[in-house]
Amino acid sequence: MECEMCGSGASLRKAYVEGTLLRVCDRCSNLGKVVEDLPAVPQRKPVAELKESVIDPDFASIVRDARKSAGMTVEELSGRVSVGVSVLHRIENGMRPTDDVARRLEKALHIKILGFVSGTQQKTSGQAPPLTLGDVAEVKIRKK
Ligand SMILES: [Zn+2]
Repeated sequence: MECEMCGSGASLRKAYVEGTLLRVCDRCSNLGKVVEDLPAVPQRKPVAELKESVIDPDFASIVRDARKSAGMTVEELSGRVSVGVSVLHRIENGMRPTDDVARRLEKALHIKILGFVSGTQQKTSGQAPPLTLGDVAEVKIRKK
């Protein structure tokens, strides 16, 4: 293959030159719009990867208070959420439950301790977008 513009055999690339798709050399491609060897478009990470589960730092007292106000013993709660009594004791003493257990506790006790906050907002790296009013309202609702 030779450059369709100058006949040079150097590395060719496809480029639109004046509306026509041609195989041209590097130098001639500068005259047109290259359609190959374009710089890679930076890929955005999938949203899911930026998110991490966060738990209310007061989850221990929230769980304990909700259980007590529901008139439940740890044993009763254990039966409802299928989580061991000793595990529940540890959670009420500050051990972070797994997301799965936390969700079951939320359901059984009608509480909200888990929240998903995007990583960029969590770790203020300087590139994080400022919180909009909508975001702030959402955070407030979630903390209830
Ligand atoms: Zn050329």
